[in-house]
Amino acid sequence: MIDLRSDTITKPTPAMLEAMMSAKVGDDMFGEDPTVAELEDYVAQLFGVDAALYCPSGTMTNQIGIRLHCNLQDEVICHKYSHIYLYESGGIMSNSGASVRLLEGERGLITSDAVKAAIQPDDIHSPVSKLVSLENTANKGGGSCYDFEEIYAIRETCHEHDLRLHLDGARLFNAMVKTGQKPKQYGEVFDTISICLSKGLGAPVGSLILGSHADIKRAKRIRKVMGGAWRQAGYLAAAGLYALENNVKRLAEDHARAQKMAKVLEGLDYVEEVLPCETNILIFKINAAQYTNEQFLAALKENDIHAFGFGPQLIRFVTHLEFDDAQLEKTIAVLKQL
Ligand SMILES: *Cc1c(COP(=O)(O)O)cnc(C)c1O
Repeated sequence: MIDLRSDTITKPTPAMLEAMMSAKVGDDMFGEDPTVAELEDYVAQLFGVDAALYCPSGTMTNQIGIRLHCNLQDEVICHKYSHIYLYESGGIMSNSGASVRLLEGERGLITSDAVKAAIQPDDIHSPVSKLVSLENTANKGGGSCYDFEEIYAIRETCHEHDLRLHLDGARLFNAMVKTGQKPKQYGEVFDTISICLSKGLGAPVGSLILGSHADIKRAKRIRKVMGGAWRQAGYLAAAGLYALENNVKRLAEDHARAQKMAKVLEGLDYVEEVLPCETNILIFKINAAQYTNEQFLAALKENDIHAFGFGPQLIRFVTHLEFDDAQLEKTIAVLKQL
């Protein structure tokens, strides 16, 4: 089976499993798991931030970030395609009691000018603009990457208006491999960052939230009330360390394979449009005269290729470490004969 539904479907490789099985563990709720501590220190140092906290999911690390910055009557400014808004079960409202100001923007990315225009007036009728949240890469934008100049400009706007800045970096390593940007650049600019180890990096579980000592101390309490404080999590943290040490550079291969498929799709008559493909997410639009989403996905499935629809006539492919050259060649052959 060729699974292009998501980069979350990967299972640990034998080498990763070995790292997990030999992990030293303890009760992390007591702060006694040495492998969790090692992972948190590794990530904090990598990004040059005070501290990091290991959590079960990226939804949790995003929601902790939002909870750290927002209270009742506050507002989060983000792109209308944001994962924090679309795919986290209404958590902004239910966890933090905050409202959302949704921005338009090319391919899931927002600009400093759009942020400025969205800041609420200091007026009792309005919610209080409190947090700007960016997503890099932007999933629903097709794995698109921010230019650092734009991030600096947004940071500047946040400073001027006393807003905090959060990054949903579920696929931040894809963005950094693509652009050559460095973790410390991100650590300097954002108040909090969420990174996922269970996407392209190939760990089975786990995300971290990064921030100041004070924020991470509070984050531990928020993680606890969300039911995310855990015990011998070091077995999982070992997979995360393995992923960070071994699976970052290879993301470039996932990007190259997605690019190759993008090139092929551009030449096919049933494809109306291929969105620019920067990283490991490839979104394309199929011609309604030839296929509905359901028909196209079914045709792929008959060839044992699995993908998701991603909007009207839109199909998303996500490449990952189990999608190798043999699978790529087979997928290209199937795409050409459909
Ligand atoms: C996957 C993902 C998350 C976190 O998802 P979990 O499944 O909760 O780990 C957050 N943001 C984006 C953009 C994602 O793709």
